[in-house]
Amino acid sequence: MRKSRVFATVLGGQDMVIDDVMIETETSRGKRPVTSEALVFAVRPKANQASRCSRCQKRCPGYDGGDAIRRWRSLDLGTTKAYLQAAAPRVACPEHGVVVAHVPWARPGARHTWAFEDTAAWLSAHAAISVVAVFLRVAWRTIAAIVGRVVADGRDTNDLLVGLTRIGIDEIAYRKGHRYLTCVIDHTTGRLVWAAEGRNKDTLGRFFDQLGAERAAALTHVSCDGAEWIHAVLRDRAPAAVICLDPFHVVAWALKALDKVRVRTMARAGVRDRHAMWAVRKNPADLTGEQRTSLAAITATNATLYRAYLLKEQLREVFRVKGRDGRRLLAGWLSWASHSRIPEFVAVARTVRRHKELIGNTLDHQLSNARSEATNTHLRALTKRAYGFHSPEALIGMAMLTRGGLCPALPGRAA
Ligand SMILES: [Zn+2]
Repeated sequence: MRKSRVFATVLGGQDMVIDDVMIETETSRGKRPVTSEALVFAVRPKANQASRCSRCQKRCPGYDGGDAIRRWRSLDLGTTKAYLQAAAPRVACPEHGVVVAHVPWARPGARHTWAFEDTAAWLSAHAAISVVAVFLRVAWRTIAAIVGRVVADGRDTNDLLVGLTRIGIDEIAYRKGHRYLTCVIDHTTGRLVWAAEGRNKDTLGRFFDQLGAERAAALTHVSCDGAEWIHAVLRDRAPAAVICLDPFHVVAWALKALDKVRVRTMARAGVRDRHAMWAVRKNPADLTGEQRTSLAAITATNATLYRAYLLKEQLREVFRVKGRDGRRLLAGWLSWASHSRIPEFVAVARTVRRHKELIGNTLDHQLSNARSEATNTHLRALTKRAYGFHSPEALIGMAMLTRGGLCPALPGRAA
């Protein structure tokens, strides 16, 4: 077997011809530069892949030889870095004009091969970015760019907006609440199907522009938080859909009030208890031993906080019970909270009453709260990761990769 065939196999086939293999030394940048050897493969596309447009891959007449030799980082061979090197001729596409010719081993504009990019994306969806960066010897900025390209590619080839009937619309704050993403999930699959920067009528309007009037008319249920701007867009663009409030948003109002009651009552009594916050916030079944002890102490000594805790748990119960019984529980809860003489919960009762109709829809239609809450929790965690995923593009890329089902398979293996 010819050596070039062996190398082509090792590099993943990828419709290329290998003309030459060279060893180069390269010196890393940084405080302590390290000199190492790298393999450089001089390659060209196979004849049937040559002279194609990099955008549409249609065969086109050549334009010129391009400006220079290009290099793409490929997956390491053993412990050695590997690069592909090729000329970058340009072609004249009738549709896309003069563009650089398609290469079968890399996405247009990429500086890494398909195999490298798909590996980086797969690893990013399954491991900490800090680990991926060290393992692949790339900067996290490079990973963010790669994820963006892989996701854009996935969004081009998979129409995520097909067949939607029940969706959830959510806002995620990042950069300490200074910027927002608007996200749309499919309640049926639990998938994140759309995300964009911003949170206003225009942002959501763009979702409906992409969805189109016909598919918007097929929406039967839309869940969201209490934001009036979302409701206004929905009434305008999807008038047939039933609007529901996501239970976790409603419970979040109670949790916020509970935090205020805890801080207020414990400060007044001069009590310090570092377990108190989670003792009252968490599901009773999930409490640790220390949190259970803390809750017992609150029960005995802090009647106001204990009542606030019961109010929060009872509101959760409303959404567990659902249906007509849920509505009955909710009516009881409203009366209890309004007469609780805990100002924080009187306020929550007022908010809940204002949204009573939409909460009633939630109880009747039973949308999968667990899925929208899981996506919300996941996105929040992404915004808190310290690896620089703070630009909206990078954040949306990571979100679509992990929750949108756009993560590619590891090269050379089945999905
Ligand atoms: Zn083209």
